[in-house]
Amino acid sequence: MKKILNYINGTYVEPKSNEWIDNYNPSNGEIYGKIPNSSAEDVEAAYQAAKTAFPSWSSTTIDERSRILHKIADLIEENLPDLAYAESLDNGKPLSLATQIDIPRATSNFKFFSQAITQFSSEAHESIGLNAMNFTLRQSIGVVGCISPWNLPLYLFTWKIAPALATGNTVVAKPSEVTPMTAYLLGEICTKAGLPKGVLNIVHGLGHTTGQAITEHPNIKAISFTGGTATGAHIARTAAPMFKKLSLELGGKNPNIIFADCDYDEMLKVTVRSSFANQGQICLCGSRIFVERSIYDKFKTDFVEKVNALKVGNPFDETTNIGALVSESHLEKVKSYIDIAKEEGGTVLCGGNKVAVEGFENGYYLEPTVIEVQTDQCRVNQEEIFGPIVTMMPFDTEEEVLAMANGVRYGLSATLWTNNLNRTMNMSKKIEAGIVWVNTWLLRDLRTPFGGMKNSGVGREGGMEALRFFTEPKNICIKY
Ligand code: NAD
Repeated sequence: MKKILNYINGTYVEPKSNEWIDNYNPSNGEIYGKIPNSSAEDVEAAYQAAKTAFPSWSSTTIDERSRILHKIADLIEENLPDLAYAESLDNGKPLSLATQIDIPRATSNFKFFSQAITQFSSEAHESIGLNAMNFTLRQSIGVVGCISPWNLPLYLFTWKIAPALATGNTVVAKPSEVTPMTAYLLGEICTKAGLPKGVLNIVHGLGHTTGQAITEHPNIKAISFTGGTATGAHIARTAAPMFKKLSLELGGKNPNIIFADCDYDEMLKVTVRSSFANQGQICLCGSRIFVERSIYDKFKTDFVEKVNALKVGNPFDETTNIGALVSESHLEKVKSYIDIAKEEGGTVLCGGNKVAVEGFENGYYLEPTVIEVQTDQCRVNQEEIFGPIVTMMPFDTEEEVLAMANGVRYGLSATLWTNNLNRTMNMSKKIEAGIVWVNTWLLRDLRTPFGGMKNSGVGREGGMEALRFFTEPKNICIKY
């Protein structure tokens, strides 16, 4: 049985709490490892290591920091097959997805921020006529906390850690207790890359124990969090009175708006992906599909045919399109929405059932499910399900679909399919979302601001936004 340990001060250590959590393999429902449920005492040990490492790391040259981060990227790339396998085993996602998306993106995160930091600079403002010169330092904050979810484990973990380290902070990080494995493996990679001890500390455990201890630690001065909206609200309640810097990347219920004038074949292909990639467990999935009425029936037939052709299977089979959901409790939660949809008058057009995959009968598999809804105000259209379920309904006018797109408490991303330029501009400006994709989905340029509005979060990650978040601006005004 694989025992995961905390990575503190450059070494793997047992938790002082001596409490352990079972780690499940979602593909077959078996326990295959143990992870620490770290206590406040363990978090304190991580904090002390980070605090000790801070003076030296924050004054390490940009070139040297950049070199080490680049080395981490190279080592992730070198270890791609092992990391992808570990991710797939821990999360249930198809190995092909972990190989093509998750691990390469973790490499890109380190590579990107190793370069971005070399382009980050302080500003100067001359107060003409007042004989004064201002310059604004961008100083490292100190010890910062990074907390990430289970859906894209190493991908999102590194998306926070890389900019935090690049800007000279030292870090106490906690991956999701549901998918701890690749974060555990990252420790060894960082040691090999020459990251000085204590610069990155990884503690494992539950949200209300380990996560809570990080957020309420009086000297961890910034928290970068990705996860559910309810957790984000709780973290904000804890951290705000302590005046910590907060970046919150939360849930979504993203509209996928399809106009009749789009490139139909491309739209259909991408819509299958934006609905069901990673078993629908991506915060950016377009889980509410709105289709212009003139092509609604055609789309319905074609989409359902394509979804029915998706293969649900064990994550290690290369023909699998849809792997296992991450946990039994998540499977039950997701599945409960199919009953809710039926009670609300929705029609299940395809899917809706658990799947017993041969040889993996106790795994957490669910058919990709398409539900036709009568109104956008029903629960399946309003609440984040975060699984392989999408809803669809027709619309007649731009105004109507815009009202429905914006008629949820979330505002993370939106997808728009149209070839009409005026409509593209009008809709893009009015859609309440931090990210709008037109005629594509999940095309990422790491320089762009990433994050949501409304209940989808506060602040933005990515590019210079992340470097700004992880630094404290200090203005110095000199009169001459
Ligand atoms: P979650 O909120 O349950 O957990 C996320 C992390 O927070 C985990 O590491 C967890 O242990 C920790 N946590 C839980 N309670 C805590 C507490 N009281 N204090 C501190 N930490 C605590 O979310 P999840 O189920 O792991 O992930 C799914 C959610 O994440 C979905 O809502 C999804 O939309 C969201 N998500 C958002 C983005 C984005 O970029 N906006 C990206 C991916 C996932």
